[in-house]
Amino acid sequence: MNTVITRQIASEKDSLFSNLEHLFCDINIHEYQNAMYRAQQSVIAFLENSRQPFSGVSPEELRKQFESVDLNAPPVSYEALFEEVNNLYTKHAIAFHHPKYVAHLNCPVVIPAVAAEAMISSVNSSLDTWDQSAGGTLMEQKLIEWTCREIGFGDSSDGIFTSGGSQSNLMGMLLARDHFSLTFLNHNIKKDGLPEEAHRFRIFVSEAAHFSIQKSASILGLGEQAIVKIRTDRSFRMNSILLEDAVKREIENGNIPIAVVATAGTTDFGNIDPLINISGIAKKYSLWFHVDAAYGCALLLTKKYRHLINGIEDADSVTVDYHKAFFQPVSSSGFMVKDKNYFRLITHYADYLNPKDHDEDEIPNQVNKSIQTTRRFDALKLWFTLRIIGKEGLGNYIDRIIRVSAEAAEVLEQDPHFELLNHSDISALVFRYSADPFKTFDLNRINTYIKSQLYKQGDALTAGTKVNGQFYLKFTILNPLTTIEDIKSILIIIKKYGNEYIAIN
Ligand SMILES: *Cc1c(COP(=O)(O)O)cnc(C)c1O
Repeated sequence: MNTVITRQIASEKDSLFSNLEHLFCDINIHEYQNAMYRAQQSVIAFLENSRQPFSGVSPEELRKQFESVDLNAPPVSYEALFEEVNNLYTKHAIAFHHPKYVAHLNCPVVIPAVAAEAMISSVNSSLDTWDQSAGGTLMEQKLIEWTCREIGFGDSSDGIFTSGGSQSNLMGMLLARDHFSLTFLNHNIKKDGLPEEAHRFRIFVSEAAHFSIQKSASILGLGEQAIVKIRTDRSFRMNSILLEDAVKREIENGNIPIAVVATAGTTDFGNIDPLINISGIAKKYSLWFHVDAAYGCALLLTKKYRHLINGIEDADSVTVDYHKAFFQPVSSSGFMVKDKNYFRLITHYADYLNPKDHDEDEIPNQVNKSIQTTRRFDALKLWFTLRIIGKEGLGNYIDRIIRVSAEAAEVLEQDPHFELLNHSDISALVFRYSADPFKTFDLNRINTYIKSQLYKQGDALTAGTKVNGQFYLKFTILNPLTTIEDIKSILIIIKKYGNEYIAIN
């Protein structure tokens, strides 16, 4: 709306003007500044006060404080609001930037990306169409092109920013399904729904693959039964000989292999499936080759370890998760394809949005490639990051993380209190406290106790996982600030709880 007119209306109708407070527009710049300043102060307090990764608050304790909150009560001041939010949230938020947070695949974020985030939500472009984003679309395309080049894809590649690795994997399986059906069964799933043969479609993954692949198969109407899990070897990588055996067996049984998913960096172990071997098998049996590099995309950034994901350039589609390993705030993720024509399988035209007669080279509409419509300009964060820190700067962070993880593996192996299950290609270590020479105690119980004590005290956070039915602790080291000294002091805390369990039981 024209500002002069707004002001006239405002002076004529005071009550209307008071209702226009708070809207993001030029008459409210002062409020914008004040609110942003207070948000910043509140975040600074969060940084200054996170002496440990977690306060240790329990759900019951925190839930009690929510009972008195009435969301229909009269509006409060910013001051009161920030105090409330501090008590209900910030004070107890998990601090991913703390060096002793080594639990899940959460990275600390980089400051340029945080600055971009403030711009993203204020300007609020929507990246579905050119006519809602303009330069935003071109920036996103440039970053997609950059990512595709880093993967090793050629000129015909393309991609899209997504909400996360799970959505990227869903898109990979969607394209795999529809491409197979169209190419080999001459059946258009987009138009005609699933073909009769769909219940015999099979997708091959390792047993250490992310659960979102299985979930995708359900969502896509293939059912979890479509997933064939291939055993991993001793280093938790897909065994490619067993993969080929399984493909042959499924064919013999009358089923229809359509895709294989290699994980480049498994969530639990950070290990990379043998991409080149798997790609060979995919070619031989005409399978869609998807690489889930949600975690392993970190290696795109480093000269030293890039070779570990060689073969990724042969994929038909790749999942990258910038919010896992590129130090980006949630959400920021990507889905890349070797051939941009694959996206035609899912393009829908809407007359109001991206009419079919738009020349795609002239008017770029990213919605043609996405399963979302309205979509955040998350790409701007990565733009800021590459411009301020650069690929090499980010790569140095990754090098440090990998180095500290290797040192941590050594420390764990040399300490008789612990049993280490894996060596990681990236930075995830699965281990357990096992200092019970007479085997009097159930190690599952001890380690479950340790994990729950860590969350009760909050002085260090690790994750937990199950391998072959046994409970293990897990370090995911994604913070370049975490040193081997931090790891050693976390292990001292773990030993303390382990010994405590033995003493009280
Ligand atoms: C985390 C993860 C995903 C899911 O990504 P989200 O961004 O959490 O949706 C997929 N694959 C792997 C290997 C992951 O580690």
